[in-house]
Amino acid sequence: MRRFAASLFLAAAVALPASAVETFNTSAGPVKITIIQHASLMIEAGGKIIYLDPSQGSYEGLPAADLILITDIHGDHMDPKSIAKVSKTGTEILAPSAVAATVTAAKVISNGETQKWEQWTIEAVPMYNLTRGPAPGKLFHDKGRGNGYLLTYGGKRFYFSGDTENIPEMRALKNIDVAFVCMNLPYTMPPDEAAQGVRAMHPKVVYPYHYRGSELSIFQKGLEGSGVDVRLRDWYAKS
Ligand code: ZN
Repeated sequence: MRRFAASLFLAAAVALPASAVETFNTSAGPVKITIIQHASLMIEAGGKIIYLDPSQGSYEGLPAADLILITDIHGDHMDPKSIAKVSKTGTEILAPSAVAATVTAAKVISNGETQKWEQWTIEAVPMYNLTRGPAPGKLFHDKGRGNGYLLTYGGKRFYFSGDTENIPEMRALKNIDVAFVCMNLPYTMPPDEAAQGVRAMHPKVVYPYHYRGSELSIFQKGLEGSGVDVRLRDWYAKS
């Protein structure tokens, strides 16, 4: 009986990492996205590894980065220790200038700029607060400081919002295949506002991420009947 219970436990433990990998077919082959935690994820395509905001969660057993993308200066996005952990000789880093002031190995990419990297097209897009901040007249994320990223591979467009409110630049994005959209208060936006923004952008698929403390059912409800495929995953399974 004890042995039976142990094998059940093993089966469950093995199943977990598989469910954290999301695969998307493109004309250049599959893109695999591994959910790590909160705002941290890994993208694998064409034998190259990209990390977005390596900061939270475990990197045990994951491959080293060919490219690291960082959105902003806060600790849940920019973490020099985690960057070091996933880096190898030749790892490239792209980040906004506010991040490059600390992560000196980073090359700067700013809002509105596009770069080619391997088979990817990488576009830095705005992410910022409209109203929310730590004190009257101040914002948690000033416009222009951080980058969201729009990544294209094999004809598919992947959007990663970074920390943002329901900004017009996000609402206006077109032909997004897969979107990762933040929500949490007080720093970004509540799930109903995120759903409104996603309705306007109308990606084919959306994953809420960076949602610690948010009620995801509100986000899901806000997109009912929209035709957007809402995919809820546990981004905090190991925290
Ligand atoms: Zn954040």
